[in-house]
Amino acid sequence: MNFQQSELTQHIAQTAKDFAGQYIKPHLMEWDESQEFPIHIFKEMGKLGLMGVLVPEQYGGSGLSYFEYSVIIQEISKVCGSIGLSLAAHNSLCTGHILAFGNEAQKEKYLTKLATAEFLGAWGLTEANTGSDAGNMKTTAIKEGKDWILNGTKCWITHGKSADVAVVVCRTGEPRAKDNSTAFIVERCIPGFSGGKKENKLGMRASETAEMIFDNCRISDTNRLGEVGAGFKQSMKVLDGGRISIAALSVGIAKGAFEASVQYSKERYQFDQPIANFQGISFKLADMATEIAAAELLINNACYLKMKGLPMTKEAAMAKYYASEVAVKVSTDAVQIFGGYGYTKDFPVEKFYRDSKLCTIGEGTSEIQKLVISREVLR
Ligand SMILES: Cc1cc2nc3c(=O)[nH]c(=O)nc-3n(C[C@H](O)[C@H](O)[C@H](O)COP(=O)(O)OP(=O)(O)OC[C@H]3O[C@@H](n4cnc5c(N)ncnc54)[C@H](O)[C@@H]3O)c2cc1C
Repeated sequence: MNFQQSELTQHIAQTAKDFAGQYIKPHLMEWDESQEFPIHIFKEMGKLGLMGVLVPEQYGGSGLSYFEYSVIIQEISKVCGSIGLSLAAHNSLCTGHILAFGNEAQKEKYLTKLATAEFLGAWGLTEANTGSDAGNMKTTAIKEGKDWILNGTKCWITHGKSADVAVVVCRTGEPRAKDNSTAFIVERCIPGFSGGKKENKLGMRASETAEMIFDNCRISDTNRLGEVGAGFKQSMKVLDGGRISIAALSVGIAKGAFEASVQYSKERYQFDQPIANFQGISFKLADMATEIAAAELLINNACYLKMKGLPMTKEAAMAKYYASEVAVKVSTDAVQIFGGYGYTKDFPVEKFYRDSKLCTIGEGTSEIQKLVISREVLR
């Protein structure tokens, strides 16, 4: 395995970095304070091919691999985790589900719009009482002639109000039965589909998180994704890929906090010298650099397996688990290095600190990652 970045990957990373510097950095605190979801930013990213990173060129996407996808998410998240999170939800959850399990007509109809950002995507699995235990969902889809009638509420959905199209996993069998759920593509314009409560969050405040409500929402059977009963298994596969993106989001946040810490520790003087001279600070930087590098290796390993089409459930969970814990630790230490200034909104590390916590929760908590990893090692 050679994880040396190719020229193409470097070029793509630079494009994402330039975009984040020009379009995101000047406004991120304003969006964070007001919880504004800057939808226009995603339209701009669509023009650069960042909204269909993994989508083949035949459907209007960039046709890139998980390696490039990971560096894009990292570069954007180094500046703003919220935009990184939304980019990940659009690319690997909604778009990723249709790419992996859609038929040709569905791919032609939806991927072309998602890849160019004409459509913003959402992916709904979680409900109020079924987060980690997602298989126990209450939202139902009942067959009526050639249609399905959807009823229920999905919670915590990234772009729950603003998405133009959503992949929604509903129960189509008996509660707790095997293979009892099915995935559907639902367009925003369909009667009976609406956005609900928007969450007021600790971090990731510029990424919209809201309910999606289905009230006798009639969906054509042509919008069913794959076999009836395959919804949960499909979702677990989609999450394998999604977890790589949350690991990349985590490393991006950690790198942002680390780079700010290195700079600050050279510039901040106490006792007539830069605080970087104190071992208490420099050893923190050494730990940060080492842990970030280790997380990156885990991500690259999962990307490599994914690219080769090899099993990677354990490796994606390891990358997500480790990288997200590193993001929290590094951003916590970053606030410590900044001292009192790190506790204010005048410096970037307080936002990294708040944003990082989502990484140990979204797309499966750290405990659930350990469950996945231990299941695989005990197999
Ligand atoms: C900002 C944000 C964006 C999100 N976006 C989406 C989205 O786009 N689509 C979507 O479907 N969902 C989304 N989610 C939901 C997210 O995936 C869930 O929050 C997550 O899976 C955890 O579920 P929960 O919050 O219900 O926690 P719970 O499942 O209630 O867990 C509570 C605690 O119990 C622990 N726990 C639960 N079960 C076990 C167990 N078996 N063993 C050990 N510990 C356990 C958990 O680790 C956690 O610490 C989002 C969440 C957030 C916060």
